[in-house]
Amino acid sequence: MSVPRRLFVTTALPYANGNFHIGHIMEYIQADIWVRYQRMQGAEVNFVGADDAHGAPIMIAAEKAGKTPQQFVADIAAGRKPYLDGFHIAFDNWHSTDGPENHALARQIYLDLKKAGLIATRVVEQFFDPEKNMFLPDRFIKGECPNCHAKDQYGDNCEVCGAVYAPTDLIKPYSALSGVTPVLKSSEHFFFQLSDPRCVKFLEDWVQGNDDMDGKPRLQPEVVNKVKEWFSVRTHPDGSTSEGLGDWDISRDAPYFGIEIPDAPGKYFYVWLDAPIGYLASLKNLLEKRGQSYDDYMADPALEQYHFIGKDIVTFHTLFWPAMLHFSGRKTPNKVFVHGFLTVNNGEKMSKSRGTGLDPLKYLSLGMNPEWLRYYLAAKLNGRNEDIDFNADDFMARVNSDLIGKYINIASRAAGFISKRFGGKLGTPGDDGSTLLQLLRNETPVIAQAYDARDTARVTRTAMYLADRVNEYVDANKPWELAKKEGAEARLHDVCTVCIEAFRLLTLYLKPVLPALAASVESFLNIAPLSFADAARPLGTGHVIGNYKHLMQRVDVKQLDALFEAPALAEPEQSATESVVPGGEALAPMIGIDDFARIDLRIAKIVHCEAVEGSTKLLRLTLDVGEGVDPQGSPILRNVFSGIAGAYKPQDLIGQLTVMVANLAPRKMKFGVSEGMVLAASHFDEKKQPGIYVLHPWAGAQPGLRVR
Ligand SMILES: [Zn+2]
Repeated sequence: MSVPRRLFVTTALPYANGNFHIGHIMEYIQADIWVRYQRMQGAEVNFVGADDAHGAPIMIAAEKAGKTPQQFVADIAAGRKPYLDGFHIAFDNWHSTDGPENHALARQIYLDLKKAGLIATRVVEQFFDPEKNMFLPDRFIKGECPNCHAKDQYGDNCEVCGAVYAPTDLIKPYSALSGVTPVLKSSEHFFFQLSDPRCVKFLEDWVQGNDDMDGKPRLQPEVVNKVKEWFSVRTHPDGSTSEGLGDWDISRDAPYFGIEIPDAPGKYFYVWLDAPIGYLASLKNLLEKRGQSYDDYMADPALEQYHFIGKDIVTFHTLFWPAMLHFSGRKTPNKVFVHGFLTVNNGEKMSKSRGTGLDPLKYLSLGMNPEWLRYYLAAKLNGRNEDIDFNADDFMARVNSDLIGKYINIASRAAGFISKRFGGKLGTPGDDGSTLLQLLRNETPVIAQAYDARDTARVTRTAMYLADRVNEYVDANKPWELAKKEGAEARLHDVCTVCIEAFRLLTLYLKPVLPALAASVESFLNIAPLSFADAARPLGTGHVIGNYKHLMQRVDVKQLDALFEAPALAEPEQSATESVVPGGEALAPMIGIDDFARIDLRIAKIVHCEAVEGSTKLLRLTLDVGEGVDPQGSPILRNVFSGIAGAYKPQDLIGQLTVMVANLAPRKMKFGVSEGMVLAASHFDEKKQPGIYVLHPWAGAQPGLRVR
């Protein structure tokens, strides 16, 4: 007996700012099928996932929700289980990239890369939001497209004309967080030097090379072709050149929800540096829970490491990740398995943000069998990096005609006779039946090879081809007629025994796809859990099976109609939960009176107000907060910028009283220093409910009085 293969398998880590969508579920089902197959071949597998918890978008979403990032991520993670259990996705561990293992591993890998001489620092100029006091990620800078002049486009590309540009190219840029005009600010950033000749050489070899373990390519050919374009400096036939591999900016400035870089206070790892390290962290967390050594496990030269990912994150997994691992002295992945996207009903693109289309939890809540979806996706996935389409009619045909009509039916046609006529005991297959069963068994290596290559379309195709042969045999022998015929008892026993053995083989072949159904069949056949080796071990004459119970319902067209029916509240923006959120945002977390006392609010008189040249948003206010006069006898006044130009004309404000935060630290802005903040009310989403209202005290209030 050979030593079992040891496999470490992951799926891409979902970003913890929302629930799973059907694209996640497809990837998990694909990986789960592969893992179950490997286990049926005797492999020892650790199959892990985790939430990708870090980065600016989560920090901002948490702030909006009035939660700490940790609480926000924990709440998202708490909602994962119904999806995973519901679709029989059996991860051995689910962790978070904010776990202590990931903090430690990310810092160690960084230090190892630094020791290898592959970390550099460089000053980078970036847009900074003076209102929010933070550098803005590209997706949080908006403005007019420099190419087609469409308004409100993101900082990295235009959704109208498709142009790709730097945020600094935007016309009239503004911060999507505060609405103010961002300022350019420079800061030191850390880079992983992928352009180093050592990295380029390593990646050229790695990307195009073979897995040492089985001698097969590490990447699918279509993926290699894509990746090659990124790292090679080349002159194309048309004279243009590819730039080659650039250094990778791996740091972000505070405030940032992430892992602080060793010996660099206020600098954090960019979320994409620590996200894949989360694979190792989840594994480490699992092994330590079991009392196993992570270091020993990873040091085993026979360990195989595989990552399932979508085509949108290929760069991170085929360039940055193997380079990080290799140059920090760690094992690189044996293979990276890339899949395409799932479209629903004729290519309606699954939108990550909108989450429309096929809602996984809705699917389950309608009582739809999760194994229908597993079977359908298995029938569509062929191991290549190609998009697949979920089509409702096709889904119904594959489940009702193939899965139930061809496969399940075999058992229902034979089991009753075995129970009623032969006391549940199997007989002995005749010559024609033995030939048929041999035909089925001959396909074991074909099925195994197809599973290994993730070509589950071939698995289901082969299984249905074999089911057709079995049904032909049933139709030719007509057990229901044999049952009525005098003296045909032995033939009936033979034919039904062949059917049960054929059903056992087909169940074995489909078990990675249909784990719950296979468990029911194992119980009905009164056998131990099936492994691949059992294909060559037929049930013996005299083996007693249990009573056949209905194994699977057909899809009802009404369920599919309900699945794709638009929700009752057609406008997602008008959903019941949002309409009760006051002012469009959840209340901030509770504070004590001491917290409030730290904010010094004062009545201020607007002694002067003017427009700010170069800004459409800001007004410059000169405020008297009752601070008296300076030694020269001039009144002490405050200079405050306020983003209220859209709502007030300067002359309307001069002479009015308002409320200001008088102890806010002065902030340097593009147009000068702001020495406080004027209070004003507005809806969270100004587009939904425009209007901004400066606070105005009742008559009689005097500059300098404290608001408490
Ligand atoms: Zn454009």
